[in-house]
Amino acid sequence: MAIWNLGSINIDHVYRLDHLPRPGETLAARSHAQGLGGKGANQSIAAARAGAITHHLGAMGTGDDWILERLADRGICTADIVRLPGEVTGHAVILLDREAENAIVIHPGANRAITSAMLEKPLSAIRPRDTLLVQNETSCQVEAARMARDAGARVIYSAAPFDIAAVRAILPHATILAMNAGEAEALFAAIPDDLPVQGLLITRGAEGAEYRDLTTGAVHRQAAFAVNPADTTGAGDTFTGYFAASLDRGDQIAAALRLAAGAAALKVTRHGAGEAIPGLEEVIAFIA
Ligand code: ADP
Repeated sequence: MAIWNLGSINIDHVYRLDHLPRPGETLAARSHAQGLGGKGANQSIAAARAGAITHHLGAMGTGDDWILERLADRGICTADIVRLPGEVTGHAVILLDREAENAIVIHPGANRAITSAMLEKPLSAIRPRDTLLVQNETSCQVEAARMARDAGARVIYSAAPFDIAAVRAILPHATILAMNAGEAEALFAAIPDDLPVQGLLITRGAEGAEYRDLTTGAVHRQAAFAVNPADTTGAGDTFTGYFAASLDRGDQIAAALRLAAGAAALKVTRHGAGEAIPGLEEVIAFIA
C-alpha cells in the first residue's frame, strides 16, 4: 500500500511588517523567512511522517534543489516530481502584521503546468489498495483521480482552495471528500445532497472533526486535543495526510481521526507549515 499525492509545491516567503501595505505604499519588512509550503507538499510530508510510503507527483522550475532534498529528508519519494524549464516553482508571498493578520499572494507557476501525459507513467504503478490524494492547487486532478479510480485505488480529495467548478468535476472520481468548515458550508450551499462519494471528512478547527460514511449513514466525531495555538497554518493538511496514512495502513476510521487530530494539534503548537509537522512517534505519545 502506498500514497500517491498529486500536489502543489510552493516556496513560502513570509514577511513580517508593522502593518499591511496600503495601495501605493512601499514598506520595508522587519524580517523575512523562506520555507517549504503548498497544500500538496504539506500533505505529502504529513503522510510520510505518519509512516506511509509516499510518492509526490508534482512540478517545479529547474532551480530550488533544496526543496527536493527537504522532501526526501522527510522520507518522500521525489522521483516523479517533474522539473519544467521555463516555469517558476510555485510560491506564496505571505505578509504578516504585528497582530499576525495576513495578506497572501500565491503564484501557482509549475503547479498549474502539470499535464496528464506527465502523470500517465507514474500513475500506471498505482494499485487497488493504494491511495491518491489531490487538492485544488495543481492542474490535472480530474485526470489523475480518474486514472486512480480506474485502477481501483482510493481517492481522497481536499476541496481547497474552494472552487465549486473543480469540486463538481472531481467528485464523481473521489472516494472521500475532505474539507474544513468554511469549505463544507460553501459545498452544501452549492450541492445540498446526493454527493457521489463514500465519505465526507469535515474538520472544524478547535472544535474537532467528523467523518460521515455516506454509504452507511454512520457519523464518527473526534474532539480536538486542547493545546495553546501558536500557528494554525497547515493544520488541515497535517490532518488529511495523517488520516490518509492511517487508512492506508488499515486503521479504522475512529483510529485514523484520533491520530490525525493529535498530529494536527501538535502542528498547531509550532510555527511554520510543512517543517512543523510532527512525526508518528511523538503523535502516538501525545494521544496516549
Ligand atoms: P484548515 O487548516 O484546513 O482550515 P481546520 O482549521 O479545520 O483546517 O483544522 C484542521 C484540524 O486541525 C482540526 O480538525 C483539529 O483537529 C486541528 N486543529 C486546528 N486548530 C486547532 C486548535 N486551535 N487546537 C487543536 N486542534 C486544532
